[in-house]
Amino acid sequence: MYLHVPFCVRKCPYCAFYSVPIKNRDVVREYLDALEVEALKWSKSRLCQYPIRTLYIGGGTPSILSVHEWERLKDILDQNFNLALLEEATVEANPGSINKELLNFWKGWRITRISIGCQSFDKGDLTILARPHSEVDATRAIELALERDFYVSCDLLFGLPGQTLRKWHKNLQTAVKSGVHHISCYELTLEEGTPWGDVPPKNIPQGYPFYRWAQYYLEKKGFEQYEIASFARSGLECKHNLGYWYRRNCIGIGPGAWGFVSGRRYKNVSSLKMYVSRLKEGRSVKQWSERLSDLSAALEVTMLGLRTRWGIDVMELEEMFGEKNAKEVFSRLENIPKHLIKRMPRKLTLTRQGMRVGNAIWQELIL
Ligand code: SF4
Repeated sequence: MYLHVPFCVRKCPYCAFYSVPIKNRDVVREYLDALEVEALKWSKSRLCQYPIRTLYIGGGTPSILSVHEWERLKDILDQNFNLALLEEATVEANPGSINKELLNFWKGWRITRISIGCQSFDKGDLTILARPHSEVDATRAIELALERDFYVSCDLLFGLPGQTLRKWHKNLQTAVKSGVHHISCYELTLEEGTPWGDVPPKNIPQGYPFYRWAQYYLEKKGFEQYEIASFARSGLECKHNLGYWYRRNCIGIGPGAWGFVSGRRYKNVSSLKMYVSRLKEGRSVKQWSERLSDLSAALEVTMLGLRTRWGIDVMELEEMFGEKNAKEVFSRLENIPKHLIKRMPRKLTLTRQGMRVGNAIWQELIL
């Protein structure tokens, strides 16, 4: 299950996720009231007879909710879903809003993993990104979460305006030294409709050398790259994200949430106002849903599988989507140079170099 908390302190200029700056607590109450209605609807579905294996509470900034609001959120989930067999439960947190009370509350409930949106440990980077936290907040947040024995992941951004390889290396070094179990490295992307997408900042460096350095350095420090953007200590991969890459069912709830149920992908409305009013009127909050054709689904499985170090199983692809569709997928991959893709009798995986140019490989698949 993915649950979206759509509130932030303020909007970062590059962010395309659905979230709104929090103005007062009434709006949080309205959100929770609506969420309860959506959860109740889901609880009656056939899918909810099965226990949920992984829970991911993302945003937005889930750590912006108070302990009192979290108690309500917990009740909504506990009362409507079977969480008895959860293998992993993650909360996304921002360094500026994480605190001991929240960590104690999460510890006492079912949360096992905290994903902290540090983005950088460099004062200059954080100012440019207009993040609502400092470099001191970032290291302190990690310390607090580790003290409470959570599995901790840290997000870092590269390719920032004016960023140098030296600065990037220091960020990676600080993250490794902090003792986190998992590091996600994302390249800054300029998304349409965001302030930076419309008016890009100057001095954005090429991301390739930053990414290559992360692959080299993190591996040397004992972090295994198990997905294009994800590095983890052995056995501490994010199970929830693996579920996306293997197309497992995922109930997405909350405004702007994505879900995938029985071969159908859907997205909830990215508007809190609409989400609240539709639920009040007893209407569906789905803005969009689609079932992929067998070929599109085979291409998607290939793309998602190739993102991971386990790659795709050739026989499995044939069994799932038929020989004809599998053949079409393999023919589209034929032109990809040998140093980017490793072809084994039953498996296909990207090489480390292949991971660096993932986007170009997806283009081959889609065209
Ligand atoms: S804190 Fe995260 S979700 Fe919120 S606006 Fe910034 S990048 Fe987006």
